[in-house]
Parts: sequence; structure tokens; C-alpha cells
Amino acid sequence: MARSIYIFNTHDLPHRAGEMREHQLDLKIPEPVGVDLLSVKPGEVIEVDLRLQSVDEGVLASARVMATATGECTRCLKPITWPIDENFTELYYYEIAAGKRGTKSKSGKDEEIDLEEDDLSFMVGDDIDLEPAIRDAVILNLAVNPLCTEDCPGLEEKQGQSWAYLSAEQSQTPADQRWAALKDFPLKN
Ligand SMILES: [Zn+2]
Repeated sequence: MARSIYIFNTHDLPHRAGEMREHQLDLKIPEPVGVDLLSVKPGEVIEVDLRLQSVDEGVLASARVMATATGECTRCLKPITWPIDENFTELYYYEIAAGKRGTKSKSGKDEEIDLEEDDLSFMVGDDIDLEPAIRDAVILNLAVNPLCTEDCPGLEEKQGQSWAYLSAEQSQTPADQRWAALKDFPLKN
């Protein structure tokens, strides 16, 4: 399996509290990031300005996430683009720190991580997985009901026009009368 593009190797950051490194990442994403109506599409790039700091428990990542999502206006279905600019801070615990919290045996540690997975992120060797934090940052920046403009009139106006057009057409033809007559015509034999 190919290594996830979101996994970042922090090997050049010394495990000494106070050390800091900065990185600029251009992540060309293989799968959409966002929600159904609005997302950064596969092949697009998510820019991440990443700052890593060594702290006692692990690596503290602070990042600025920039990308452009595309989707459709929820009212009129016009295509829209949505700029994303969001920050996140995430602490990735050293595996050793995780071990300290419970049993140190391999199987025991796995269980421990499963239990705490929702709250804490752990390093795997020198690797940190930025994916959950990046996805959260993007989704946080998206509108639930994206609109092309704040006062988008939606489809109603368009429909209104076409209905007006239709009834104008109909009133100019004598078809109305005949249809009216048909309405009373006994169809059952
Ligand atoms: Zn619209």
C-alpha cells in the first residue's frame, strides 16, 4: 500500500523540548476532502504551512491549511468555488508517552491506543498523520449550505419565468378550448 500523503516524517526535529521546525507542504490529494456539496477535489493541492515544536509529551503541530473547494450552490446549483484558510493545532504524543499510560506490552499498548483514539493522536516512530486534522480544518471552513451569493434567488425565479412563458404560449392557441372539451368527454366505453 502506498504511504499516505498526509503522513509526515518528523525525523529532523530533535526530541528536545523547545526545538522547532517549519515546513511548507503541497499535498496533492488522492480523494476528495470536504462534504458532498462542497469539497476539495482529487488532484487539487492542499497547502499546509506546518510548524512542529518538540514538547515533553511529543510533537506539537500548528498549521495553516489553504485550499480551494468547489461545489454547487444549494439554491440554484450554479458551480461555486470556496476558498479555505484555516488553522489547527494538534499534539502528537510519543509512543513511549502512550505506553506510560498503561501496560507496555505490544498488545496492551494497542488496546490502550484504541481506547484513547478519539481524544489523542500518537506518533508512529517519527511519523505523524496529519489527515484527521487537515480534514477537520477543511470541513470547519465549509458552509453547510453553500450559496453562490448571499441573496441567491434560487431556482424559483427561473421556474417562474418558464411557467409564465408556457401560459402565454397556451393562451395564444385555441388548444385550451379543445382540451377543456376533452375534459368532459366520456373516456370509459
Ligand atoms: Zn445560487
